[in-house]
Order: sequence, then C-alpha cells, then structure tokens
Amino acid sequence: MRDIPDVLVVGAGAAGIVAAWRAASLGARVLLLEKTPRIGTKILISGGGKCNVCHDGPMEEVLKGFRPNEARFLRPSFYRFSNQDLLRLLTDRGLRVYTRPNGRVFPVDQTAKDVVAILAEVLAETGVEVRRATPVRRLSHQEGRVTGVETAEGAIPCERVVVSTGGSSYPNSGTTGDGYRWARDLGHTVVPVRAALAPIYLRTDSTWADLSGVSLRDVVLRARKGDKVLDRWRDDLLFTHHGVSGPTALEVSRAVAEAGAEGVSLDVDLLPDRTPEQVAEWALELATTHPRKRLRSLLDGIVPERLTDRVLIAAKAEGETPLGQVDRKTRNRLLETLKRWPIGEARTVPLEKGEVVAGGIALDEVDPKTMRSLRCEGLYLCGEVLDVAGRVGGYNLQAAWSTGFVAGETAARDAETHAGRMP
Ligand SMILES: Cc1cc2nc3c(=O)[nH]c(=O)nc-3n(C[C@H](O)[C@H](O)[C@H](O)COP(=O)(O)OP(=O)(O)OC[C@H]3O[C@@H](n4cnc5c(N)ncnc54)[C@H](O)[C@@H]3O)c2cc1C
Repeated sequence: MRDIPDVLVVGAGAAGIVAAWRAASLGARVLLLEKTPRIGTKILISGGGKCNVCHDGPMEEVLKGFRPNEARFLRPSFYRFSNQDLLRLLTDRGLRVYTRPNGRVFPVDQTAKDVVAILAEVLAETGVEVRRATPVRRLSHQEGRVTGVETAEGAIPCERVVVSTGGSSYPNSGTTGDGYRWARDLGHTVVPVRAALAPIYLRTDSTWADLSGVSLRDVVLRARKGDKVLDRWRDDLLFTHHGVSGPTALEVSRAVAEAGAEGVSLDVDLLPDRTPEQVAEWALELATTHPRKRLRSLLDGIVPERLTDRVLIAAKAEGETPLGQVDRKTRNRLLETLKRWPIGEARTVPLEKGEVVAGGIALDEVDPKTMRSLRCEGLYLCGEVLDVAGRVGGYNLQAAWSTGFVAGETAARDAETHAGRMP
C-alpha cells in the first residue's frame, strides 16, 4: 500500500483480523501489521488446537462468563457482533461447527487451522494488506492525536490506529504486552496484569510430580485464604508436574493470582452431588452390608487408583482395615476428606502460561460503543489488550471478535467522516 492507509491495525489475532476485515468491508484502505510470520497464532493454539470459537446461547447469557464490570463494558459490542454473527461469517465460508452440551462451539473437523484459513480468506476478499513479520516498535503521536506507527522498515503515517496486540501470556506467540506500554505513553491507565485461566503451581509440587497426568472427573476445586473461599469451580482437575491444571484449576486461578498465591490453599470436594450427611449415610450402609470389604474400596470409582493412597494418607486411615472394624473417628476423618481433600498450598500462578491475562487497559478510558480511546484521538483498542478476562468456554475469543468488529467499524467510519465522504 503506497498510499497512506485509512486505518492501520496492529496485531493480527482474533480482534485485529476482525477489525481489519470490518473496516475494509466498509470501504477503508486497511493495513494490518503482524509481528510474527503468521496471522491468528493464538487462534491456532486455542482449545488445544481445536479452537472453541465462541459460546452458544443468548448474548446476555454469554456475558455471564465475565465479571459484572467487564460484562457492562462488553455488552454493546456483544450485541453489535454476536456469536451468531461470527458463526455466520465462518459457516457461510464452509466451516461446519457443533455445540457441546456445555455450550462451547467447535469446528466439526476439530481444527483451528480451518478458522484461520477462513479469516485469511476474508482479509484477502476485502483487500486488506497484511504485512507479516512486521513488529511495530511504537505509536507516533502529536498533541493527543495518533499520527502513525514506527516499524523496523520505517514510519507509517496513519490517523487511525487500532491496537489489538493482545495480552502478555504465551509470549512465544507474539504477545509481549507491547500495547500496554504504548497505551501508557498515550495517557492510559494499565490495570496491573496477572494470570487468569492458568495452571496453579503448588508448594508441594514434588509430591505430585509422580501423579502427573492423573485426573479427577467432575469435582469441585476450592481456593481458600484462611476461612474465606476465594473461588470454586466444578469440572475436571488434572495433576501436573508442578501442581494442578484442567478446567477447575484454570477457572479458580484468577482468584488465586489476585490473592497473591501466598497463603492460598486448595481443596477438592470429591463428591459434589452429596451432602456430608448423605456421604455418612452411604458409608455406614456399606459398612453394614459389606463389613469385610477393605476401607480403600470406599474410594473405588471416586478417585483413580493412583490417588487412593493420597486420600487415605490425608484422612490418616489404614486402607486394609475391614469396613466393619473402622472406628467412628477414622470414618469421620475419611468422610471429611472426601468432601474437603486438601491438596496443597499455592506457590504461584504463572502469568506466561495463562490462556488469558486479567488486567490491561482500563475499561473506563475506552468508549464501549465505539472502542475509541478516551485519552487519545485516532486510537482504537480491542481484544485482550483491554482489562477483560472471561471464563473458559469461548468467551475470550468472543470478546476479541466483538470488540475488534466495533473498533474496525468505528475507525472506518471516522476515516470516512474525515475524508468528507460520509453523508
Ligand atoms: C493455549 C490457549 C488456548 C486458548 N483457547 C481458547 C479457546 O478455545 N477459546 C477462547 O475463547 N479463547 C481461548 N484462548 C484465549 C484467546 O485465544 C485470546 O483471548 C484471544 O486470542 C485474544 O485475541 P486478541 O486478538 O486480543 O489477541 P491475540 O490473539 O493474542 O493477538 C495479538 C496479536 O498481536 C501481535 N502483536 C503483538 N505485539 C505486536 C507488535 N508490536 N507489532 C505487531 N504485532 C504485534 C501478536 O503477535 C498477536 O498475533 C486461549 C488462549 C491460549 C493461550
């Protein structure tokens, strides 16, 4: 593009691609600059390479995947470009999708590559010029107005710049928090960044290392500081070399990170559908009907065999004791452990391993209806660079698609206005 672009988009992730496509489809000349040699890098690794493109259901329900202040901010863009709009964009171009019972939408062929291929197609269709392997070094500005960007190849002037540089987790995918630095230079507040949707490393990691890969199905993981439950989540839990991962750990990780990890303990409810009284009744009944069965058999079907001894140790119980001979105190300890099995103290929540980061450009400094910066003219902000972080389930990509769409649309309309082409 030899002419000065109408709109320049920095960062070709979900938000930047949609911003560029939307601006170009409104007639703007758009230049999309991407630091890495490919577009949609994070989309490619999303959902374990399968890409959970969005969450199904009414947008009001989808907004519940975010904290209330984030949902308030996202509402206008979620209605402007909804999950159905996104799916139409993809399915009109041949992607087949299916919705899991938990509302998560995936490509039928289970590959994120197809999603990125379609996005590349729409960029080409609308004439967006994409420059890969072109990191932007900084944003140029003058008297509170954006004037362009600087790259290794030189300066590119442009009066409307969309910043969609993502967060700062998974730095190998190109996201090293560049947008935060630029926004700060331009007068924005950047809410301190911390991990969200990340594994939790435990202090006792060495004791879990040999169990790496073992998982628990449908349990409740709780994070507590003292007596206060910081967060809880019901789903699967995976033991890793350093601690825990899987949906439950990712979901509570934000609360653990926000509490500073230090002093936060984790415990598991292995029987979330039963009250302590029901568990006690069931154990008593088993002891009466099968007095010769070993105590460890109580754990059959509740935890994988490799975890049985850990639970028994936590309950200070001897697994070989026949059920009929277990004293009341031991039985109570075991029952308590089934409802609250302590698995250790958090050591850290590694930011770089977060599927998303919490924190980022303060939401009250961006207009939620247009994604215009309220600090600097000609600047539009979208995607994970903003202070939003949703739950697991396609929420975060939706935030990127929707805010990207609105940012691109506004930038293109502003370009028209300035060129005097708007009616
Ligand atoms: C392992 C993993 C799995 C995930 N799975 C899912 C999932 O299944 N569903 C879901 O909804 N969410 C998922 N997420 C979260 C989701 O991928 C992100 O929230 C989303 O991609 C953010 O989009 P974005 O466009 O804002 O930022 P990104 O996708 O991170 O894109 C930012 C882009 O900007 C580029 N960039 C950065 N700095 C510069 C610069 N200086 N110059 C030029 N370009 C620059 C980067 O290279 C990058 O390509 C997952 C994340 C990870 C890490």
